[in-house]
Amino acid sequence: MNAPSNAKPRGRQFFNNPGPTNIPDRVLRAMDRPVMDFMSDEFVAIHHACHAGVKRVLKTDQGLYMYNASGHGAWEAALANLFAAGDTVLIIETGYFSLGWAEMAVNLGIKVETIAADWRKGADVSKVGERLAKDKAHEIKAVLCVHNETATGMVLPLSDIRRAIDEAKHPALLLSDTISSLASIEYKMDAWGIDVTVGGSQKGLMLPTGMSFTGVSNKALDVARKNKAPRHYFHWELMNGRAPQKFMGTAPVHMFFGLQESLKMLEEEGLDAVFARHARLAEATRAAVRAWAADGKGPQLYGQSPDRLSNSVTTVMMPEGVSSDPLRKVAIDRYNLSLGGGLGPLMGKVFRIGHMGDLNEPMLLGCLATTELAMKTAGVPFSPGGVDAAIDSLAS
Ligand SMILES: *Cc1c(COP(=O)(O)O)cnc(C)c1O
Repeated sequence: MNAPSNAKPRGRQFFNNPGPTNIPDRVLRAMDRPVMDFMSDEFVAIHHACHAGVKRVLKTDQGLYMYNASGHGAWEAALANLFAAGDTVLIIETGYFSLGWAEMAVNLGIKVETIAADWRKGADVSKVGERLAKDKAHEIKAVLCVHNETATGMVLPLSDIRRAIDEAKHPALLLSDTISSLASIEYKMDAWGIDVTVGGSQKGLMLPTGMSFTGVSNKALDVARKNKAPRHYFHWELMNGRAPQKFMGTAPVHMFFGLQESLKMLEEEGLDAVFARHARLAEATRAAVRAWAADGKGPQLYGQSPDRLSNSVTTVMMPEGVSSDPLRKVAIDRYNLSLGGGLGPLMGKVFRIGHMGDLNEPMLLGCLATTELAMKTAGVPFSPGGVDAAIDSLAS
């Protein structure tokens, strides 16, 4: 007998998209409360606590601005405050998200130069230094990059990029998108000399989508102050005038209730332990994929530089001629496992396993075992032993 079409699957959905991520029950419960006046003393105290907490996660003592906006809003905030039409920025190509930020800059009238890179190998940082060394007139205002490229599952060595800028004796600002790395992978805004950090709520911070923020260095604030380009909603100086919350419009109090709880969870576990957990789960995921690829016919790791593989998302390349779309459809429709798809030119060619945020060993093993099940059901060739390899990795 066929199940009625409105039948709801039993059990929990296993959610392994690389954003949004699982929202912990504790965060949901913390948000389940009546609204409050965003000008009240009670909310101002919550806001201040969250502000300080996010700065601890960013590892910065400098500025922070928050927005009612997805990560794209914080991208735009960074560009709108620092640059005017006709300015030039240098963006390091990593994949779909670096292209997206570059496209936004172009649409704002900013001239974009790209350090091109092979998406599977990752950018050559020495090319950044070489390009800046040639820019004697200092026309390049900033280097933009994506710390953790969510499309390819690869990270950039940000401290090396800072060093390349300094060694070229170039004054360019360094802007980094940490939307899918913050609170999952080590990040040190001040120590690494990052001028603007772009973050969002729905990835490592385990919150609903809809809030984003920028950490801003004093140097960047100075540049913004001198920038005459028109802007309003994201205008840092205007926001400064709206103390104590520095929010444009109504502050999203429920997002802050959730943020307060997620910061508490991160600090109870300890950020270093959070990073170690992500490293452990990521390594187990990679062990599974390497096992699937063992005979050369199965899916394989997309990233080809072992020291650049992300601890928050693994991008898995499908065998030649096999689309990832039917596999993902079987996974969600039959087994209630949500996997990420390929973005831009990688559509159908890869799938992505998100392992960031509120995740533990049983959740990951459930995902990997069900991915094997879905590969079998969908007729995707693979070598057996992926789950065993992940278990061995976790047990070691
Ligand atoms: C998710 C993501 C974005 C976009 O964030 P939105 O909240 O969807 O606007 C940007 N950059 C990276 C690296 C991301 O992972």
